[in-house]
Amino acid sequence: MRQTILIIGGGLGGLAAGIRLSAKGHQVTMLEKRDKPGGKAYTYKTQGFTFDSGPTIVTAPFMFDELWRIAGRRREDYFTLEECQPYYRIFDAKGRFFEYSANEAELVRQIRELNPGDVAGYKRFMTSTKPIFEKGFVELAEQPFLHFTDMLKVAPALVRLKSYLSTYRYVSGFIKNDFLRRCFSFHPLFIGGNPFDASSIYAMVDYLEREWGVHHAVGGIGTIITAMAKLFTELGGSLQLNAEVAEILVEGRKVVGVRMADGQVRRADTVVANADVAYTYHKLIAPRHRKHFTDAKLRSKRYSMSLVVLYLGLDRRYDDGDLVQHNVILGKRYKGLLNDIFNRHHLSKDFSLYLHRPSHVDPKLAPKGGEALYVLSPVPNLRSHTDWSQAARPYRDAIVNFLEQHYMPGLSKHIVVEHMVDPRYYQDTLNNYLGAAFNMQPLLTQSAWFRPHNRSEEFANLYFVGGGTHPGAGLPGVLASAVIAEKLIGPA
Ligand SMILES: Cc1cc2nc3c(=O)[nH]c(=O)nc-3n(C[C@H](O)[C@H](O)[C@H](O)COP(=O)(O)OP(=O)(O)OC[C@H]3O[C@@H](n4cnc5c(N)ncnc54)[C@H](O)[C@@H]3O)c2cc1C
Repeated sequence: MRQTILIIGGGLGGLAAGIRLSAKGHQVTMLEKRDKPGGKAYTYKTQGFTFDSGPTIVTAPFMFDELWRIAGRRREDYFTLEECQPYYRIFDAKGRFFEYSANEAELVRQIRELNPGDVAGYKRFMTSTKPIFEKGFVELAEQPFLHFTDMLKVAPALVRLKSYLSTYRYVSGFIKNDFLRRCFSFHPLFIGGNPFDASSIYAMVDYLEREWGVHHAVGGIGTIITAMAKLFTELGGSLQLNAEVAEILVEGRKVVGVRMADGQVRRADTVVANADVAYTYHKLIAPRHRKHFTDAKLRSKRYSMSLVVLYLGLDRRYDDGDLVQHNVILGKRYKGLLNDIFNRHHLSKDFSLYLHRPSHVDPKLAPKGGEALYVLSPVPNLRSHTDWSQAARPYRDAIVNFLEQHYMPGLSKHIVVEHMVDPRYYQDTLNNYLGAAFNMQPLLTQSAWFRPHNRSEEFANLYFVGGGTHPGAGLPGVLASAVIAEKLIGPA
């Protein structure tokens, strides 16, 4: 039956669900609080610089192709993806790097140089990621886990694949050199997980990268968002911006629509929330309507880290050093720093960074001779009670000084445009509970059936898409959640 559907939020999850549900014949309206869609993938443009504010790496390009295919279009006609060369460089605390790319011979050469004994272990590790990918991604990522029996069915496979081990421990079973262990196990950080706690099922990302490559969008991720919004409206969907939802309206055990921040009431057969799940229950649904996700239950969950991200427009380029497009710069402390961030909720003075230099390969993102970059530092979420109004400036200065001393000489003199976000942005602008940039942590105990379900445990006609629900954060996870929502809602 053709349904009137309201989607709360125009992030990647909302846009993907909007496209799928419109293609299936439903009447879909997307309500996005900000002036542009994209959510975490919002784009800032100023003085000739283009900054993608969030995701930069596309690891499962086929998922976008599929989205366009079901809409009867070709993805290539809307935006261009290019494989990154190399995928990224991972620097240790002394500035030495491991270059990760599709070049197997070069990878083996670097591993041999670091520890000859790890070459065989690396090969066994990569072979072991295939069955993990086949189970974790192909079979489970696009399946709804609504019933405990769904979990019981997959439990033997999860045990067989050693999903109970952390990613770091799993990798350590194959590789001895500590720097290499970090290089092959840091991936959970891309989706908000601590490699020492996140399930080894995330070793599938190593496989995903190797099999399909690591891509970037020409012109930035913003081109993907523009293309998705265009496709959604071409299919008849209505995208409403500056449209903030203040409450989900409930009658009995059903949701019946939303009340907007300006007081307007919008009724619907079905509501799909792309806003963070914990935020949606906590802020948009009155406590008296919630039996399962009470405030206490939401508080008891473990949330991902937050981030400080510094966006810098420079009047010079840094193409002559070791930095490439994607750079992971690890500090001296690794496990201790992650423990401070994830478990102690303590803002440390030291940091590890992800430095993104998109204009290194796509010069149009900056004025001629200049460079657009962002530098990201994982920090504790707001459970730390850090006063960011005091902490932000010194933290920013420490990062700029570090980069200036070790990687980008003279950096501070060449900054012509600057913007910075901290956990307050993730909480107050993007509406993520505790400012956790990647929603709930991807722990085994908070995954699949244990993660908030794609169909609400509270209301049969409320659905969730995006990083807070199954399967989790990151572009592939968020796109997969839209596949599940479409399956559960069904065609018109
Ligand atoms: C800095 C950063 C870098 C990242 N890098 C990568 C990467 O390289 N590769 C990768 O795969 N993943 C990456 N990720 C993760 C990935 O970007 C996210 O998991 C994904 O974009 C989240 O999409 P979403 O649909 O869940 O939510 P969001 O993007 O958060 O969208 C939710 C939307 O809902 C809107 N909203 C919230 N409340 C309301 C309301 N009350 N009314 C109306 N609208 C509302 C928000 O404004 C927002 O637009 C990164 C994330 C960050 C933060």
